[in-house]
Amino acid sequence: MVYNTPSLSCIQEKVSGKDKAEFNYCVFLYNVEGVKSKGEYNGPDPQLAATLEKEILDANLGLGWDDVAGLHEAKKLLQEAVVLPLWMPKYFQGIRRPWRGVLMFGPPGTGKTLLAKAVATECGTTFLSVTCSSLCAKWDGESERLVRCLFDLARARAPSTIFIDEIDSLCNARGVKSELLVQINGLNNSTNNTAGKSVTRIYIPLPDFKSRKELIKINLKSITLAPDLDIDQLAQRTEGYSGDDLTNICRDASLNDEIKNMSEAEILEIPVTMDDFVEALKKIQPTVSAGDIERHQKWFSEFGST
Ligand code: ADP
Repeated sequence: MVYNTPSLSCIQEKVSGKDKAEFNYCVFLYNVEGVKSKGEYNGPDPQLAATLEKEILDANLGLGWDDVAGLHEAKKLLQEAVVLPLWMPKYFQGIRRPWRGVLMFGPPGTGKTLLAKAVATECGTTFLSVTCSSLCAKWDGESERLVRCLFDLARARAPSTIFIDEIDSLCNARGVKSELLVQINGLNNSTNNTAGKSVTRIYIPLPDFKSRKELIKINLKSITLAPDLDIDQLAQRTEGYSGDDLTNICRDASLNDEIKNMSEAEILEIPVTMDDFVEALKKIQPTVSAGDIERHQKWFSEFGST
């Protein structure tokens, strides 16, 4: 489900008190004006910019939409917001102007980072990935400067995708939220976009049955499967597991430690069986609790009604 919001501030107001810790946010912004400049950074704070420069990932991350199971609505939104406007900027003007930012939220391990990387791969943009806890620890008390520098750098390297993980922790730092809003609005003004098409948000839920099936298939695509392996049944038995949990189960089930006396050809042909999965399921429990989901859904319904 997608909810249209004018700004980031109401999101931050809603996420107050202890609930903050229960959510995992990502803000994901982009600069459409991207004539392929890839210019040198010549703004203030060159030292900080150099640190941030290290956070720029190779745009060719090798991840496509097909590597992300389910989440069709999120993929569609990101296509409309980022991929298509970069491909056909003239069409996406006026009433068709795209979202500047997409805020993805939901339980951890559900594919938010993966989606952001898939977008960067599809677009070939400069991908600036920042994890707040690590950067804020390093630049304690200077987060405002950090945000400014991040956007300056993104402009110098446009077209860019800025990916901020754990945005909630960044927004808790004094002054940072307003700097972030200034930057977001600044990006808008630079292309004559008026308010209202700034940031949209999308809830990224735990995978449903169909998505769990897809996810298991993606994980096992290069593995030999035993004839008894029933992916439908596995998907049924893994309700409540996140994408990350499911990936861990697939990894555990497909690792065989009795390979010492076998040839390489034999090892590569070892099929993964239903029993392997039964054993993996005993070891690996869902990391997101029912209580967490309930809190998300409650928050989500409140959120939707604003
Ligand atoms: P988040 O950013 O929501 O916390 P990630 O995108 O980092 O989660 O997901 C962690 C890992 O879990 C991924 O690297 C991938 O292996 C797996 N995963 C999670 N969701 C999906 C999905 N929808 N499709 C495929 N793999 C997924």
